[in-house]
Amino acid sequence: EVLDIIVDDKVNGAKLKNTKEGNFIINCEYLLAAPGRIGAKWLSDQTDKLKIPVKHNPVDIGVRVELPQIVMEEVTTINWDPKFHIITKTYDDFVRTFCVCNKGFVVEEVYDEFMGVNGHSMRDKVSENTNFAFLVRVELTEPVENTSDYAFSIATIANTLGGGKPLLQRLGDLRKGRRSTWRRLERSNVVPTFNCVTPGDIAMALPHRVVVDIIEGLEALDKVLPGVASDSTLLYAPEIKLYAMRLEMNKNMKTRIEGLYAAGDGAGVSRGIVGAAATGIIAARDIIKQHRS
Ligand SMILES: Cc1cc2nc3c(=O)[nH]c(=O)nc-3n(C[C@H](O)[C@H](O)[C@H](O)COP(=O)(O)OP(=O)(O)OC[C@H]3O[C@@H](n4cnc5c(N)ncnc54)[C@H](O)[C@@H]3O)c2cc1C
Repeated sequence: EVLDIIVDDKVNGAKLKNTKEGNFIINCEYLLAAPGRIGAKWLSDQTDKLKIPVKHNPVDIGVRVELPQIVMEEVTTINWDPKFHIITKTYDDFVRTFCVCNKGFVVEEVYDEFMGVNGHSMRDKVSENTNFAFLVRVELTEPVENTSDYAFSIATIANTLGGGKPLLQRLGDLRKGRRSTWRRLERSNVVPTFNCVTPGDIAMALPHRVVVDIIEGLEALDKVLPGVASDSTLLYAPEIKLYAMRLEMNKNMKTRIEGLYAAGDGAGVSRGIVGAAATGIIAARDIIKQHRS
């Protein structure tokens, strides 16, 4: 585990400290920091310390929606990962579907400080459900711009309520202003594919504005895909995308510190596998070029 990045002018590059029990420091001329979403906060703390300017992008906060596969079948047959963009009535906010997992499974996304949810589909194992992220875009202006911190604190509240686990609630219970319980969930016709959750009340964890956006967004989506906003539709929270902080870098992924590069989701320059890999390659090519010159 890399605990700290130390810049030492005498070494003309970045110095990497890898201490736990071993306590050792790696000197290097070039350093590529690509810690992914799980390390986004760590990288943000490092950039604060190293005084590398960052830009706070909007953050995505929401839920993972799970429903019977048949409800989405018409559209997933045409498009494996359909994207719906919705502007909500009350708050005029932007809500979108993301990462549709046809016949898939809801899974945990473990961070150091909290547990969120994500989803995946498998080649050889299918479920009777489809799940997708339903995310509200939140942009903050002065005096508070750190959208990652904001999202992080919401995720922590959600986990506190869930006793360290994500929350699960039926849409019908959310609309009626009551928590879900295992008894209520058992009576429901959608069987959750992820059980390491606490049935609860998402309205006590997510901000009112996000909850209204989610309900209104699903009701709008229901007009295109009847059944999406059924009472039995399952909502898991928090689903949060922590790639909201973007380091100031040149087009070769180089920061203003000589020898220090960053890439991938943690640096805020990608939001998926292909983009993350591409930014790593761009940085690596520049490092090779610099090294040879
Ligand atoms: C369940 C799930 C499903 C997904 N599905 C898709 C999909 O279908 N399509 C898609 O495009 N994307 C998907 N993604 C997103 C995709 O995985 C990421 O966009 C991609 O992996 C980002 O790559 P990265 O190299 O930036 O970071 P990562 O792949 O996250 O790699 C970063 C690595 O750095 C390590 N690290 C962090 N901090 C430190 C530290 N201080 N010291 C040492 N090591 C550290 C982490 O442990 C990790 O191994 C999914 C993600 C999840 C969790």
